[in-house]
Amino acid sequence: MNINFKNLTSIYHQNTPFEHLALDDITTTFEEGVYYGIIGHTGSGKSTMIQTLNGLLLPSRGEVRVGNIVLRRKSRQKDIHQVKKHVGMVFQFPEHQLFEETVLKDVMFGPKNMGMDRATAEEKAKHYLQLLNIDASLFDASPFDLSGGQMRKVAIAGILAMEPEVLILDEPTAGLDPKSHIETMELFKRIHQDMGITVILVTHDMNDVFQYTDKVKILNEGHLVKEGRTADLLTNEVLLEKFSLEPPDIVRLIHDLEEKGIHFDQMPKDAEAF
Ligand code: ADP
Repeated sequence: MNINFKNLTSIYHQNTPFEHLALDDITTTFEEGVYYGIIGHTGSGKSTMIQTLNGLLLPSRGEVRVGNIVLRRKSRQKDIHQVKKHVGMVFQFPEHQLFEETVLKDVMFGPKNMGMDRATAEEKAKHYLQLLNIDASLFDASPFDLSGGQMRKVAIAGILAMEPEVLILDEPTAGLDPKSHIETMELFKRIHQDMGITVILVTHDMNDVFQYTDKVKILNEGHLVKEGRTADLLTNEVLLEKFSLEPPDIVRLIHDLEEKGIHFDQMPKDAEAF
């Protein structure tokens, strides 16, 4: 399913002295099966955007359409619940949300809450725990007795067991060592490829954006300033040849220029302006 934002505006504390415009009139599409990156400095609206994507926040103006479901300012709980079924979210430090007595119960919680019967929820939970290399001997252990890396895997299995069609990853590698970082990113890549699931990654890690995403959306102060294919947006032969920049440096450079209001496609082709 596609997700469409139509003239979406998000305002915190609307009609109070603390009113704050976080997303300003955004119209954009997240196409089915694509791996997206959302980038932008702190405060640019990334978190507001992903919370709007899965119904945690409702639009102040405009709408978000998730498949056939439309969410607006005053949408009903029933529609919000449906959106949450389709769009899974792996928050930062997802292991902080573990709470059940056993690993298996924790992973079954989400699917059951979404209305799956017990037997199916158990089957899904076991499947995704195994996919994440959590040994069956740990299913009855307390999640709090596991290592940090294992806890994170259990938390991720809990989201996957709900079998969302769209998976949002909010800085999923925060705090991980380099080896676990790669393992985690490769896991999501495999899930994206094998399950054909749409992935939306919010990160400050430009290497990951370059390496894993198909398309990017760049936010700045609540505006969607640029979007397109990662390869088109973040590589440029002129920059590569003239300045011997590595792709991640280019991502950073473009990002910095966008911040200053200089748009990449308006730059002279010979890049003499540099
Ligand atoms: P990012 O994820 O890119 O750091 P956010 O979406 O968190 O950006 O924030 C966008 C803007 O909205 C920022 O200026 C931030 O200060 C503001 N903001 C975020 N959450 C709230 C909130 N709960 N109440 C008021 N303002 C908020």
